[in-house]
Amino acid sequence: MQKTVHIIGAGISGLSAAVRLANANYKVHVHEATQQAGGRCRSYFDAATNLTIDNGNHLLLSGNRHALAYARSIGTEAGLVGPKLAQFPFVDLSTGQRWLLDLGDSRLPLWVLDESRRVPDTGLADYLGLMPLIWSGKDRLVKDAIRCDGTLYRRLVQPLLLAALNLDPPEGSAGLAGAVVRETLLAGGQACRPLIARDGLSAVLVEPAIKLLQDKGASVRFSHELREFATSKGRVTELNFGDDSIAIAPGDAVVVAVPPRSAASLLPGLKTPTKFRAIVNAHFRSAAPRDAPPSLGVVGGLVEWLFAFPQRLSVTISNGDRLVDMPREELAQAIWRDVCKAGSVAGELPPWQIVRERRATFEATPEQNALRPGAATGLKNLFLAGDWTDTGLPATIEGSVRSGDRAADHVLAMSQV
Ligand SMILES: Cc1cc2nc3c(=O)[nH]c(=O)nc-3n(C[C@H](O)[C@H](O)[C@H](O)COP(=O)(O)OP(=O)(O)OC[C@H]3O[C@@H](n4cnc5c(N)ncnc54)[C@H](O)[C@@H]3O)c2cc1C
Repeated sequence: MQKTVHIIGAGISGLSAAVRLANANYKVHVHEATQQAGGRCRSYFDAATNLTIDNGNHLLLSGNRHALAYARSIGTEAGLVGPKLAQFPFVDLSTGQRWLLDLGDSRLPLWVLDESRRVPDTGLADYLGLMPLIWSGKDRLVKDAIRCDGTLYRRLVQPLLLAALNLDPPEGSAGLAGAVVRETLLAGGQACRPLIARDGLSAVLVEPAIKLLQDKGASVRFSHELREFATSKGRVTELNFGDDSIAIAPGDAVVVAVPPRSAASLLPGLKTPTKFRAIVNAHFRSAAPRDAPPSLGVVGGLVEWLFAFPQRLSVTISNGDRLVDMPREELAQAIWRDVCKAGSVAGELPPWQIVRERRATFEATPEQNALRPGAATGLKNLFLAGDWTDTGLPATIEGSVRSGDRAADHVLAMSQV
């Protein structure tokens, strides 16, 4: 008989679990509280710029193997586009200096041996100084593992870790930073090609998953928020959505793939991260200069990454809590000034939009990292997924997909008992 699984939450973690289980011939029901799938990774039409934009620019790397496998499984791997080589153009706005970080095409970090490919004004010893980060313990801070100053730090380590951890790197978890370095810089250029969903996050990572699920007979219900559930003998027996409820038969499973605050209210007593950091994105309706790179690293300014999309220049600012209360127009003007300098663009402020995601990621400190639960819960047929569960990675698409895959594996294992 076909087994049934209910997935609560249609963010990337819920969708990856759903796709994996639909492919394993489960009858899948997805329940999403809002009217749209994608959660923190979604596109929408924005009237101010008259464009479809993403809630935030999402950068993947070619070493994000679970995320790429997820895209492959929904037929959209080709929608993640980037340069053929792991090359990162950078500009320092405080000095005007520009350079290209070329990580080559190897499976080893051989680029650090080649002076012409290293960050300008850095030597081999600077890179060797990063070694303590690689296998750092979970309770250490980045600043206790490596030096957080100097040219290499300012021009490479700080931008990389700020983007990955979404906080000022010295206060971040060295364990999480080490996982990022192991899976990217240490894995050579092959793992570091930057990839973006050029046609939009929803078109590449969300809508095709929904279509695949529906084609396989799954149901996907929007505005269907799980309020609570009933349990008996250590199992979930009923899901309650307010206006309706669904009985859970013996042998059926539930994957809760919601953000930590929702998970904690559904499962009182569940330990979850309690602190979060914001990410600010700004989108400008403006054509990029013809030779503009798809992504540009920016140091020495407000802007951190500048992305060139068709008809749009978009900016990411991590660890953005200091900007969430700044008047929007003032912020847009300040960011546009940086964009003009970094992207060699001129002109008055074009139509713009600012998206401030206040709880973009859990705070990647050792203290908050220690609050992340695994997939299994005290209930035999209920499993957790989400970028905030204990994936060993910071809050990223790669972590979300891994958590979804892991929850799906628990469901599959249940049926083998
Ligand atoms: C601005 C921004 C920029 C980012 N940039 C990057 C990047 O460059 N690279 C990268 O890898 N990652 C990036 N991330 C992180 C990435 O977006 C997240 O890690 C990922 O999307 C989280 O997916 P999730 O499924 O774990 O959670 P969510 O996306 O939060 O999904 C949870 C879903 O559950 C639903 N839900 C909540 N409660 C209930 C309920 N009771 N019943 C039913 N449904 C419910 C929610 O509505 C939501 O759809 C960024 C995030 C943001 C916000």
